[in-house]
Amino acid sequence: MRLILLGPPGAGKGTQAQHIVERHGVVQLSTGDMLRAAVKAGTPVGLKAKDIMASGGLVPDEVVVGIIADRIEEPDAKNGFILDGFPRTVPQAEALDKLLKSKGLALDAVIELRVNEGALLRRVETRIAEMKARGEAVRADDTPEVLSQRLANYRAQTEPLVDYYGEKRKLATIDGMKSIEEVTADIKRVLDALSESAARPVKSRKPAAKKAKAKKAAKAASAGRSAKKAKAVKKATKKAAKTVVKKAAKKAAPKRAAAQKAKKSAKPAARKAKTAARRGAAKGARRGSKASSRPVKKVTKKRAKAAGRLTKRG
Ligand code: AMP
Repeated sequence: MRLILLGPPGAGKGTQAQHIVERHGVVQLSTGDMLRAAVKAGTPVGLKAKDIMASGGLVPDEVVVGIIADRIEEPDAKNGFILDGFPRTVPQAEALDKLLKSKGLALDAVIELRVNEGALLRRVETRIAEMKARGEAVRADDTPEVLSQRLANYRAQTEPLVDYYGEKRKLATIDGMKSIEEVTADIKRVLDALSESAARPVKSRKPAAKKAKAKKAAKAASAGRSAKKAKAVKKATKKAAKTVVKKAAKKAAPKRAAAQKAKKSAKPAARKAKTAARRGAAKGARRGSKASSRPVKKVTKKRAKAAGRLTKRG
């Protein structure tokens, strides 16, 4: 198991890391502890880090990355490790990704202990007072002033890692303000769930990336199918529309022809009728001018008698 414990100074990372070491048989790799050992031993790294650490600053990325690269090569780290205090910056996290990838290793989870800064300061002040009261040596950087500086560094440089690992779906956030036992129990639940999913048969454990790829492929295939379908439907609709137009035209053709014929034959008939009417009228008019212009006289007895007289005489 390879884990990272993320959280501001004083959040209880060291204490919780110890519980994980006991339960899971992994080693705790604390850059703070290693740097303090280097300062104590007076190594070149220690000499470089001494003043930076005393002021609450951050030791250069390449120094801590170098320390971690060497440390995870050691035999006791082969079974897994828990990183405490590393990475502390995004470049350190990126360097760790590269390092693990080059060794064919993967990170299992990043556990963030979320705490309230005000409460954290009060907690540290109480602890320092208690240590002093017991006559114990207090770390040079364990003062409220230096702690404030370290908290500011955490906010500015380390907190972006919450998003960094959140996006990689590696992050589990735990309320670090609870009691040590409660926090231990919460971390245990997270790690048990992780072990359970790791123990599940590979077949039923489709990696998220594979799942997403399959989903994407299915979507693309269905999009392709629907695009093809749409094209076919368009083509069929066009064809059907053409057929309908053709059929309608065919159906309408005889009707149209008959109408045209009727129109054609109706024209001369009408013309004929018109001409006939004209002629009839003219004839009538002519007849009218001869006969009808003269009023028809009734053949009365008187007129008949007169006509007879005329005939006798003639
Ligand atoms: P810690 O015990 O983790 O709080 O670390 C103590 C001091 O060591 C820090 O205040 C830093 O000065 C230095 N240090 C530890 N780890 C790192 C790191 N990953 N990057 C830079 N500086 C570190």
